[in-house]
Amino acid sequence: MAGVLVIGELNDDALQSITGELLAAGRRIADVTGENVGVALLNGGDAVGQETISLGADNAYLVQDEVLAEMQLDAQVAALEKVCSEVQPSVVLIGRTLAGRDVGPRLAFRLGVGLAQDCLQVEADANSGRVVAVRPVYGGNALAKVTFPDANPQMVVMRAKAYEPLDADDSRAGEVSIINPGLDSSVVKARLVETVSQAAEGVRLEDANIVVGGGRGLGGPEPFDQLEDLARLLGGAVGASRAVCDAGWLDHSYQVGLTGKTITPDLYITVGISGASQHMAGCSASKNIIAINRDADANIFKSASFGVVGDWKNVLPSFIETVREL
Ligand code: FAD
Repeated sequence: MAGVLVIGELNDDALQSITGELLAAGRRIADVTGENVGVALLNGGDAVGQETISLGADNAYLVQDEVLAEMQLDAQVAALEKVCSEVQPSVVLIGRTLAGRDVGPRLAFRLGVGLAQDCLQVEADANSGRVVAVRPVYGGNALAKVTFPDANPQMVVMRAKAYEPLDADDSRAGEVSIINPGLDSSVVKARLVETVSQAAEGVRLEDANIVVGGGRGLGGPEPFDQLEDLARLLGGAVGASRAVCDAGWLDHSYQVGLTGKTITPDLYITVGISGASQHMAGCSASKNIIAINRDADANIFKSASFGVVGDWKNVLPSFIETVREL
């Protein structure tokens, strides 16, 4: 077994931050097991390979095959299956990103193992060397420890921002090599017909370090202008509860929660959100929550580090003005 294999992610040849985060998690495991940390980079070039070495990889596998050109899911899964059979990892770490959610279960099926989804933490047990992953269950109300007594590889899908990437160290030694999986084009069952890009301003909700979330308590779509102002001042993004999106006040791409996006910001400011368990399932790993709600018994206060019990109309404008003056 050759240690931890991180499934890296690239966007237009640029390494995505999830890759650095998974490498940091991989190093923690490797520090206990003494194994290597490798990273598979589909369509990756030498420069990103070197970048992953500086971020903690011992081996960067540049997976190159012309069938991967369109980055179709079928081809990616087939390529990663080949990489796994060549590298024989004992642990595979995947990000809970759009791509990772697609690839993870399919790859696990091909490898004949299960996988732990949506994990917040992953460690290696010092005695057994086996992995223990921690994931939220029951809508984020409890944490479960998942172990893999017999499976090889042990597959873990990690939530974004669960670990900070290591500081890049260009003096780190590692090996960059090419793997050509030799794919047959018949593995691709679906064809990419069109790519539609959505124009987006500012920080992506899933990547934001600060999120300002609004709920039904705002009473309508207009107050979201104030939330946008605050998010802009803080360099963050706006999110919303499902009640807001179902009411059509904001698009569902803003929804945080069980059936929406998962966020892990340093700071989540909620305004008029009750903190239903399905909402908390998408934000309970936020490092700090500040809640503004007029109901002192609202569930959100159980998770908040700071809270203001009051009408948002009285609290939010002065809060925004204070931030503006900083
Ligand atoms: P409410 O629960 O109505 O809360 C509004 C809050 O605003 C209240 O606490 C109130 O005290 C406060 N308030 C009112 N007026 C003011 C004021 N003037 N100033 C300050 N505070 C005020 N929900 C999600 O968010 N995300 C999901 O992904 C999601 N998935 C779901 C999946 C399933 C299968 C189900 C059944 C439900 C799901 N829900 C989800 C819905 C969830 O159960 C809640 O209904 C929803 O989160 C409530 O949204 P809310 O907090 O905005 O509204």
